[in-house]
Amino acid sequence: TEAAQANIGVIGMAVMGSNLARNLASREGNTVAIFNRSPERTRGVVAAHPEAGFVASETIDEFVASLQKPRTAIIMVQAGAGTDAVIDQLTERFEPGDIIVDGGNALFTDTIRREKAVSPTGIHFVGAGISGGEEGALKGPSIMPGGTAESYKTLGPILSSIAAVSEGEPCVTHIGTDGAGHFVKMIHNGIEYADMQLIAEAYDLLRYNAGLTPAEIADVFTEWNKGQLESYLIEITAEVLRQVDATTGKPLVDVILDQAGSKGTGVWTVQNALALGVPVSGIAEAVFARSLSSHPEQREAAAGLPGPANTVAVADRDAFVEDVRQALYASKIVAYSQGFDAIRAGAAEYNWNIDLGAVSRIWRGGCIIRAQFLNRIADAYAAEPNLAALLTAPYFAEAFTEGQEAWRRVVISATQSGLPAPAFSSSLAYYDGLRAKRLPAAVVQGQRDFFGAHTYKRVDAEGTFHTLWSGDR
Ligand code: NAP
Repeated sequence: TEAAQANIGVIGMAVMGSNLARNLASREGNTVAIFNRSPERTRGVVAAHPEAGFVASETIDEFVASLQKPRTAIIMVQAGAGTDAVIDQLTERFEPGDIIVDGGNALFTDTIRREKAVSPTGIHFVGAGISGGEEGALKGPSIMPGGTAESYKTLGPILSSIAAVSEGEPCVTHIGTDGAGHFVKMIHNGIEYADMQLIAEAYDLLRYNAGLTPAEIADVFTEWNKGQLESYLIEITAEVLRQVDATTGKPLVDVILDQAGSKGTGVWTVQNALALGVPVSGIAEAVFARSLSSHPEQREAAAGLPGPANTVAVADRDAFVEDVRQALYASKIVAYSQGFDAIRAGAAEYNWNIDLGAVSRIWRGGCIIRAQFLNRIADAYAAEPNLAALLTAPYFAEAFTEGQEAWRRVVISATQSGLPAPAFSSSLAYYDGLRAKRLPAAVVQGQRDFFGAHTYKRVDAEGTFHTLWSGDR
């Protein structure tokens, strides 16, 4: 029909949806239908972006009628109830073969539930994680779509056309069925938390143990950004540290309240990793560090407790800076290794066939954790798809050969000077735990058998054993 002019539609004209719609409209061959619950918002977007040639609708019926068949609509509305409401509206109007994409930050279990509810109608439901914030949505995000392979035949080319490009490859791949895309997006965000915390701890050490100013640390980070640590997060941290407050003339970092907020995806990652039995200790420490920072009453009450004053003068500044760089790199390998472990465990639990190398490649561009480093991860999985743990890949093992002593010196320095470095130190503990020949888990098994007759296994015989402890009276 004449009305059906658009090959793709976007619902939700807040910042993410309108930017994604503009990105789609800027690509050759796309005509983009748009709709928002409150029509004023749609009118505003149309007025602000005449160049996009949007096909705008003020009712959901008009919107559905404006889409060519098979219809494809991307939902970018508030996660939760808003998303459910829009899915219901579309499911009532769409036909078998049409595709509903939820591009919001849905919890993957919600995506699994929604896919189960929609699929009997013959409509495809795709949960797609979209990373990169506002700018990514506009200029090219990293996209993690789940859903059926069949829907990806239609959706793949459209998403590839708007995704970020890294080394000639679009940053999008079919992750797996139902909730796989949103699961991988969740882990991406968890890794992002860990990476940010590690960089923040590196800053703290350079500032208070090496005595560098924020501007000097910015220079150090700019230098690091040319090597192994090259990443968007290092780059923007340098900019954050270089910023001077217009009002006071102080470094801006010194006037920003030191209480970190969150929107909850880090918590989701840790909750799910706990349930899957995957120790994502780096991510967990990062989430806890934000929580700790956000309890001013406890911090005030504890401020007088005994301990060193956070400052030591390191003997050799340059050597210490290099130690911190190596410690950051080693801890970062641990955080990513833990994150990829969580993806593998999730895939096993929910029956997804996830290509871990492909995941690392689509994170090279568009998203917050984009970095050259992800090429090394892709190489590691290309060489050995069934890698037991990412940190054991030869390239990374080599980094530990070079860096583990520096890592220990940095953790010692932090401990001695009373500077909290939870992500650095717990990553090191994880590393030492994994490589340990014997763990005190044997003692824990003894304790469990003692008080609960939970039994234990022996190193030298098959079967399970229970000891008649002296406590059994
Ligand atoms: P948002 O503030 O999360 O949501 C506002 C949008 O949701 C508006 O279009 C609003 O319509 C609509 N909405 C809310 N409840 C609704 C309902 N019951 N029925 C229909 N529409 C409803 O918008 P956003 O920041 O652009 O984010 C959109 C999605 O992308 C979210 O899921 C978010 O988590 C995700 N995301 C955001 C970012 C980011 O950097 N902001 C990054 C990645 C992913 P009205 O105008 O009518 O109120």
